[in-house]
Amino acid sequence: MVEIVKGDIVIQEIEAIVNAANNSLLGGAGVDGAIHSVAGKELLAECKTIGFCKTGQAVLTKAYKLKSDFVIHTVGPIWYGGGNNEEHLLSLCYRNVFNIIREKNIKSVAFPAISTGVYKFPVDLATDIALRETREFLKSNINNVKIVFVCYDENTYNVYLNKFNQLFRKG
Ligand code: ADP
Repeated sequence: MVEIVKGDIVIQEIEAIVNAANNSLLGGAGVDGAIHSVAGKELLAECKTIGFCKTGQAVLTKAYKLKSDFVIHTVGPIWYGGGNNEEHLLSLCYRNVFNIIREKNIKSVAFPAISTGVYKFPVDLATDIALRETREFLKSNINNVKIVFVCYDENTYNVYLNKFNQLFRKG
């Protein structure tokens, strides 16, 4: 099941929140900063024990003061114009998050629009990738996982809605 909502990811009632992190896992701007500021210092401490995450990879931590049980940190690519393997790396982010969801038997997850903020990935293309990987995951999803895309701004929300209707209605 897929839902597209407008709002703030940190207030979602959801088992796992995906963080658009950076390689250092030390927190940063945008959604990363929002997640760390609500989760508290313990999240930063756990991230420090992990130390590093490669672009396209994903790691699981607890969620501390957030309402969720887990944060799945994934590092999206910085957009350098498209010739730097950006599309593949963003696909990998989604696949690796879904791998963790499968492994841990997580039943609900909220995603931000990874890489489309400070990292400047074009929203249209990033949304195509997010929804394509989601559709692939759902084909093999026996647990009926709930997937929520939390769009922070109106434009991202409209792009997700339009593309969702195109991609998922075609089947
Ligand atoms: P990146 O560095 O991967 O681009 P950003 O956090 O800068 O990550 O932006 C990713 C997306 O998350 C953008 O669409 C941004 O508007 C959005 N965003 C920022 N804060 C929040 C939040 N609290 N909840 C959900 N989305 C957010």
